Amino acid sequence: MPKVRMSKVGKAKNYVLKFPNEHFQSDGEILHCSACEKSVSLEQRFLVVQHIGTAKHKDKKTKIQTAVFYFRQYFFR
Ligand SMILES: [Zn+2]
Repeated sequence: MPKVRMSKVGKAKNYVLKFPNEHFQSDGEILHCSACEKSVSLEQRFLVVQHIGTAKHKDKKTKIQTAVFYFRQYFFR
């Protein structure tokens, strides 16, 4: 029986689903962080987790959330 291996495409989508609040996007084989505007390596899980933990990513994420917050305040007051 051949081993069932997760394809790269499946892997990328899996990370998008697993980390719904981290601004990840997948357009096939690539995992892209839209907060930092950079691609994240899919080769090893810890690299993805490491990216989420970087100060830069957290900073960008906070800035996006703050922007969304003020946007909502402005239009829904
Ligand atoms: Zn990021």
